[in-house]
Amino acid sequence: MNKSITPNQIKKNNRNLIYDYIYKNRNVSQQDIAYNLRLSRPTVAANLTALENDGLIQKNGRINTEFVGRKAIAYSIIPDFRISIGVEILEKEVNMIAINLYGEQIDRLSYGIIYENKDSYFKMVCAKILFFKDSLGFQDEQILGIGFAMEGLVSPDKRTILFGEILSYTGLSIETFTKHLPYTCSFFHDVESAAVSEKWTTPELKDAFYLALNWHFGSAIISKGEILTGKHGNVSTVEHIQVHPDGALCYCGKRGCIDTVCSLSALLTENETTEDFFRGLRQKNPSVMERWAHYLLELAEVINMLHLVFDTDFILGGSIAPYLREEDITVLYERIQQLTPFAESQDFILVSKIPQHNTIVGAALPYIQAFLDELSN
Ligand SMILES: [Zn+2]
Repeated sequence: MNKSITPNQIKKNNRNLIYDYIYKNRNVSQQDIAYNLRLSRPTVAANLTALENDGLIQKNGRINTEFVGRKAIAYSIIPDFRISIGVEILEKEVNMIAINLYGEQIDRLSYGIIYENKDSYFKMVCAKILFFKDSLGFQDEQILGIGFAMEGLVSPDKRTILFGEILSYTGLSIETFTKHLPYTCSFFHDVESAAVSEKWTTPELKDAFYLALNWHFGSAIISKGEILTGKHGNVSTVEHIQVHPDGALCYCGKRGCIDTVCSLSALLTENETTEDFFRGLRQKNPSVMERWAHYLLELAEVINMLHLVFDTDFILGGSIAPYLREEDITVLYERIQQLTPFAESQDFILVSKIPQHNTIVGAALPYIQAFLDELSN
C-alpha cells in the first residue's frame, strides 16, 4: 500500500516537532528552532502563532541568540496547560499531588482519613480531590486524569484491584471513584508508580530492581527502560517469597514472607515513627542499633537472592531511603560478599533519587507521558 505522507501530516509533524523542541529546551528563540529543526523561518513563525493561540506555548522574555545581533523573543511551553493528579490511598491517610507537564509538583495535600470500604468514604475522598483541583484554580478540561496509587495488584486495564489484602479491597472497581469524578481515572500498583517516578527522574535508567522499603515491602523490575509486567499484568511480587517458613504471619496469609522481615512494619516497634527510629540509630541507642543490624542482614540476603536472579542495579527507595547512609550500604555489600559465590563489584546498590512523594507523582505521570506521546506522534 502506498503510504505517502500527506501535506496535513507534514503540518502536524512540524507543529509537534516544534512543541517537542521547546518542551525539551525550555526557553528558545524562533531562530534556534528554525536552525536546529532545519525548518524555514515562515514555517516556524506560523506554527509558533498557532501553538500560542491554542494556549500551548507563551512568549517568555528575551534571550541571546547567535543568529541575530539583538536579543530575540523567547518561547516556552505553558507547563500547566494540562495537569494530572496522583492520589495515594493509605490506611490512615489520603495524599494527593498535582503535577504539570514537566512532572513538577504544583501543590500537594494530605488528609488524615481512615480507609473504609464504603461509598461514603469514596465520596469523601472524591470531594477532597475536587476541592484540591478547585483550590488550584484549574478547569476540568485541564485535568488529563487521576491516578490512584494502591497497595495491591491491579488488572492490566487499570480498572480493578486484583489482590489488595493490606486494606481488604480485593475486587475494588475504579467506578467506586469515577462515579463521583468527571475525569479519567486509573489504579496503579503503588510500587509501579514509585518506579515510574524513578525512571522519569533518571531517563538514562535502563535496567534495575527497584525495592520500595515502605511500611510494606514492594518491588518492580525495570528492564530496557520499561517496567516489566508479567503474563497476568503483575509487576514483581517478591515480597511474598517465603524466607522464614516459621516466621511472622504476612498479610497474604502465609508465614515468613520477605514483607515480614524487610518492611518498615517489621523494623519499627508499636507507635515508633521512622524518624524516631533513625534518630535513635544515629544516637547509637543499643536496642535500635541491634534491630537495624538485623534488618540489614535480612535485606542483604534478599538483595543477594534477587541479584542471583537478575544481575542488575538495585535501587533502594521508599520511606527508609532518605535515611540511608554510606555505612549502611557498606554493611549490605559486606554481607552479600559472604553470601554470594562470585566476587562481586560493589557498584550495584543505589539509593533512590526521588524518595519523597514518588508514589503519588508516579501515579500522575502516566497521564502526562500519554499527553506528550500523543503530541510527538
Ligand atoms: Zn506474604
